Amino acid sequence: MMQAPSGRPEIDGRQFDVAIVGAGFAGLCMLHRIRALGLSARVFEAGADVGGTWYWNRYPGARCDVESMQYSFSFDEALQQEWSWSERFAAQPEILRYANHVADRFDLRRDISFETRVEAAAWDDERGLWTVELSTGATVSARFCIMATGCLSAAKMPEIPGLGSFAGPSYHTGAWPKEGVSFSALRVGVIGTGSSGIQAIPVIAAEAGHLTVFQRTPNYSLPAGNAPMSPDYAASWKAAYAARRQEARMTKSGAIYDFSERGALSVEEAERRREYEARWNKGGANFMHAFNDLAVSQEANETAAEFVREQIRKIVVDPGVADALTPRDYPIGAKRICLDTGYFETFNRDNVTLVDLRADPIEAITPTGVRTTSADHVFDALVFATGFDAMTGALLAMDVRGRDGESLREKWAAGPRNHLGLMPAGFPNLFTITGPGSPSVLSNVLVSIEQHVEWIAECLGFMQVRGLSVIASDRDAEDRWVEHVNEVAQRTLYPRAASWYMGANVPGKPRVFMPYIGGVGRYREHCAAVAAAGYEGFRFDGAPAVADRSQDDDRPMLRTG
Ligand code: NAP
Repeated sequence: MMQAPSGRPEIDGRQFDVAIVGAGFAGLCMLHRIRALGLSARVFEAGADVGGTWYWNRYPGARCDVESMQYSFSFDEALQQEWSWSERFAAQPEILRYANHVADRFDLRRDISFETRVEAAAWDDERGLWTVELSTGATVSARFCIMATGCLSAAKMPEIPGLGSFAGPSYHTGAWPKEGVSFSALRVGVIGTGSSGIQAIPVIAAEAGHLTVFQRTPNYSLPAGNAPMSPDYAASWKAAYAARRQEARMTKSGAIYDFSERGALSVEEAERRREYEARWNKGGANFMHAFNDLAVSQEANETAAEFVREQIRKIVVDPGVADALTPRDYPIGAKRICLDTGYFETFNRDNVTLVDLRADPIEAITPTGVRTTSADHVFDALVFATGFDAMTGALLAMDVRGRDGESLREKWAAGPRNHLGLMPAGFPNLFTITGPGSPSVLSNVLVSIEQHVEWIAECLGFMQVRGLSVIASDRDAEDRWVEHVNEVAQRTLYPRAASWYMGANVPGKPRVFMPYIGGVGRYREHCAAVAAAGYEGFRFDGAPAVADRSQDDDRPMLRTG
């Protein structure tokens, strides 16, 4: 970008209809849709290129846990027909190539400012504008501000004494160096055994001289069953895309699985085992849909959990290591289920050691490695697979201020609050895509992104043709929605685990179940009903943008940029 004489990018002082924060899949999709409304938009992205999660998470083994044929956009028929996936579950480089393909195909880059972080955004009631402050020193304004910041984008380093004192290189899985890392012959320590650690550990173990895994909580993990994409399978999906995408939109999780109508305890034990075995052998998250009550009945859940524990005992040769790797104290699925390729098998390797932090906690990171109660572990490199300040971290990293200077950080001090997972009351014209209070991380996020993008775009279109300039959510409606989100969560087993869904991985973060667990299909219907009823729970203010409403239907009225 050319620099203005002041040294600030020439974007300084410009006004847009819409500012979009983030150029991951949500930001790209939103920009494309905003253009179709004839509005001006600018996307601000901290990374040097598009891709969001798939730009930053380049750790070895990074791979999607939703099948490739379903983890892709449906909004353009030619796009979904022309793209070919090479594996059942695509790896990070391929998904990043797909994000780049989308950006090129729809010529999106020209409206994106890269290496530009949004530091602050403040609503000005008199002007009906958001003022957006950027890390480049520039300030822009926009009538609407759309947060496409992602739910797992604020990497979280653990709060361990001595962090930063390690003399060798250290890496967080969620901010992996673009140029890659060689662990060849090195002594490597990995802290964390969530989805990222579980994917990275087998790949690092195959390369490193020695790998030490520091595990605090054992995790349930299922074999992914990844394989090269079968051309017939891809063709069958492409031929039926219209119907299957529609079907996926109305499911609970935004993806088509082999859903069961049966409860786990309604069948004999032999039949239950047959069902679990068949799904385990096929691989993927279908295992979690073997029975329809695994997420709500502790007794039913325990049958699936015990099956997985048995598999761990079968795979891991050393009974002590198997025991340490076995999760027992929370329901399966209540922490995000992991999919792996050879994770438990990795602990049979001679060059891999497991440190059970429950028995031998970390005391400090030292210049040479990690000190636990019983030993000093010496490393050449350290990997932090310690997760994210999920769902709210990226939003609250910015100083967002609504009406009368109300701070979003203060408003959400006891947990996120908004109406429909889309707009916090007191923050007019500010939308979040797949934010807290929406199905987001509990769903195939591409499906949820498209649903939010469409809802927001239709809302802006509704305002355009009516000459409305400001939309704000009601506090009453917000209160009711937050209550509903909590109430639905309490009917499930999810709150029984200390998960990042609950904010439990960040010391001091309020323990609130953040995503909406009522299901993607039901949520979609609810959002559609709200819109059909004239945006129930939302209020429009501001004078019409033009006096003559006769030409409203085909003329964009919010264009300012
Ligand atoms: P995570 O699930 O939050 O796991 C973080 C790991 O670090 C946990 O094992 C945690 O232990 C450990 N940890 C955190 N602080 C620690 C400390 N101070 N000392 C020791 N251990 C510590 O994070 P993640 O693995 O990055 O995954 C986050 C989410 O990203 C996933 O749940 C998933 O939704 C998404 N993801 C998806 C994929 C995929 O599509 N396949 C891949 C990667 C990530 P505790 O459990 O005891 O807290």
